[in-house]
Amino acid sequence: MPDPSPFLDLPPYPADSYPRLADRMGRLLRTKNDVLPIQGEAIVALEAVAASIASPGVAALNVVTSPYGALFGEWLRRGGAAVTDVAAEPAKPISLAAFQAAFDAAPGVNLVSLVHAESASGILNPLPEIARLAKARGAAIVLDAVASFGGHELDVDALGVDVAVIGPQKALGGSSGLSAVSISEKAWRLIDRPDAPINSTLSLMDLKRNWLDAGRGVLPGMPSALEFFALEASLDRIEAEGLDAAVARHRIAGEATRDAVRALGLSTWARDASSSDLVTAAVLPERVGVSDLLRRATSSDADLSAGVGPGAEHLIRLNHAGPRARREPMLANVIAVAEALSALGLDADLDAARAAIDRHYGAA
Ligand SMILES: *Cc1c(COP(=O)(O)O)cnc(C)c1O
Repeated sequence: MPDPSPFLDLPPYPADSYPRLADRMGRLLRTKNDVLPIQGEAIVALEAVAASIASPGVAALNVVTSPYGALFGEWLRRGGAAVTDVAAEPAKPISLAAFQAAFDAAPGVNLVSLVHAESASGILNPLPEIARLAKARGAAIVLDAVASFGGHELDVDALGVDVAVIGPQKALGGSSGLSAVSISEKAWRLIDRPDAPINSTLSLMDLKRNWLDAGRGVLPGMPSALEFFALEASLDRIEAEGLDAAVARHRIAGEATRDAVRALGLSTWARDASSSDLVTAAVLPERVGVSDLLRRATSSDADLSAGVGPGAEHLIRLNHAGPRARREPMLANVIAVAEALSALGLDADLDAARAAIDRHYGAA
């Protein structure tokens, strides 16, 4: 007999653990709104939100700062919503002026959707300001906080975010198989209607009727115990560290990386105030291609990649999210970039970059 696999013959995830899990996620999101676990990766939760909230009664202003925002707009349209996309300059954060102008020009907007932080291009959208503008006109706010959850401050109730979509697989370093959404009363009023989609894996009404309003026991279907135990582990870890401490850890990793990248002689793609603390996007010198650089950055301790989506392809991303939001991994990223630049015959002042990192973390 081969050794038994730890992945087989698992006990079911205990029925009384589901509500605890939802309440813990609510506390991390700082919300009293309902929290629904979604059995699928975060992109499934986003599609479920769009499929459930979209109707001809919805007029949405959809902020597009990456392929995720563009997809969300498509899903809303598919469900019969009138959607105005307001796109930032490629791979840049949305400007408040552009948002305001689009808001003024679109009549009867009752839903605003946006991504908080983008890992595709390393930017942070001006969420508090957009939330304030949306609230002032009574529009519900749908927020894709998949990348930002655990890495950026997010107070759902203080901001008045009506739907927040999160997953444990980015800043929490967890498994991608489960995600969650928080839903306010105002959002339920858009979702809970006679013609709401039901009997669908994308239906939040199904989850409301068959789980939320049914005592929050075992989720309908055959929930993956493996994924629920993994989610619990990621919540255990973030609670043990403290969410604020994790956010601060990301802030330092972001600041140190941006200063180090500039000390190497590169420029950072986003201004500091609109930079994500999960991923830093750096602009390479004109004559250096992203693939040339990546080919020469061989350290397995580093996590470098090309930007994703229109306008980001020429950027190099240094990943400092989750367990990588610490001195050693972020330093490994910077060293790998410096070595690759040197291998390409460019000057890269690694000593200056190390000094910049020491200013944030203290001398090693
Ligand atoms: C990663 C990510 C998603 C989707 O996550 P999956 O892991 O692909 O399900 C959605 N939005 C944002 C902003 C993300 O960073």
